[in-house]
Order: sequence, then structure tokens, then C-alpha cells
Amino acid sequence: MSNSISDFSISSIKKHLVQSGCFNGVDLLYYQHVLTSIKADNLVIKTEMDAAKVERVFSVLNNIQNRKNTTFKPLVFKTQCCFVDVEFTKLERPTYTCPNCNAFVTAHNDLMPMGTLAHKKIRKLRVQLHTCLDSIWSDNKVTRKGAYSLIASKLNEDNVNVHIGNVSSVPEAVNYFHAIQWVKSELSAL
Ligand SMILES: [Zn+2]
Repeated sequence: MSNSISDFSISSIKKHLVQSGCFNGVDLLYYQHVLTSIKADNLVIKTEMDAAKVERVFSVLNNIQNRKNTTFKPLVFKTQCCFVDVEFTKLERPTYTCPNCNAFVTAHNDLMPMGTLAHKKIRKLRVQLHTCLDSIWSDNKVTRKGAYSLIASKLNEDNVNVHIGNVSSVPEAVNYFHAIQWVKSELSAL
């Protein structure tokens, strides 16, 4: 790419996706996160899925550069659970499944996974965490985004990585639950 990464802005990405007719249901926050991290030279890639997601952002930037429309194809990566090629299906929602152990995750409309692949137990914990987290902003003391920021600071995580979809183990779920409780008690003191 001859353009430097700093030539791209999140609004130019949005404009491009709207023009390509595929903006609906895209999580722009992730694109923003990649742009910001690359500019700050602190992009962390831990898994093959992370790498595939970053590659997707770069392919969109390339399309902007070459004035080509973007069409989203499924990501290709090895699963973090069994390290085999992930399977993509488009049932009710786009879904990535590990053919070896059946862990799965659903995806946004740009086919970016909404978190990590997970088994039933972890998916159940995620639902419970969501319910718990929803009760924080239902009394209007904080926005959804604000609640995530507070949890991110408590867990010492990036705002993008602190999404419940990334909770992948029981200890992580426990930490997350404690962070939610902490945010609740901070807010009730206001
Ligand atoms: Zn697996």
C-alpha cells in the first residue's frame, strides 16, 4: 500500500462500506481499534483468528486505496481450541464452527466473529454476564459504552477486547463478574 495508515480515517472506511452496500451490521469499533493500534504501534495479535480479522481490515483499506468495492467473504483461520480449519455456515446467522469439537461463535455482517469460539458452558456464562451487565445501564446512570469502559479499566483491558464474546474460560468469566460487581458498587455510590 503506498498510502500510509494515517491517511485512513474511520469515516472514510464507513463511507466506503456504505458505497459498497455492505455497511449494515458492521462493527466499526473494531476497524477503529485496528487503525488506532497500528498508528500507536501496539497492535496485539494473539490467535489465528486475530490475524484473519486484521487481514480483513487491511483488505478493506486496500479496496479503498484501489477504488474497488468490498464484498465480505468468510474469514479463514485455524481454531484456537483444536487448531484445525474453521468451518463457516450461514444459517440464521453467519457462524464459525470448529469441526473437531463443535465450539462456535456467530459473526457480524462483515463476517467478523463476535468473539472467540466457545462451548456450551462458556456460552451460558456469557449469557449470564450479559444479563448481569444489562442491569448496570438499565437505571441510566451510565451508557452501554460507558459501562464497557469502566469494566475495561477494572480488567486492565482494551475497550475492544473487553467484549463479553471474548470471555473464553471459567476464570475469565469470574473476573468479569467481579468487574461488573465493582462497576455496580461504584455507580451506586454516585
Ligand atoms: Zn475445537
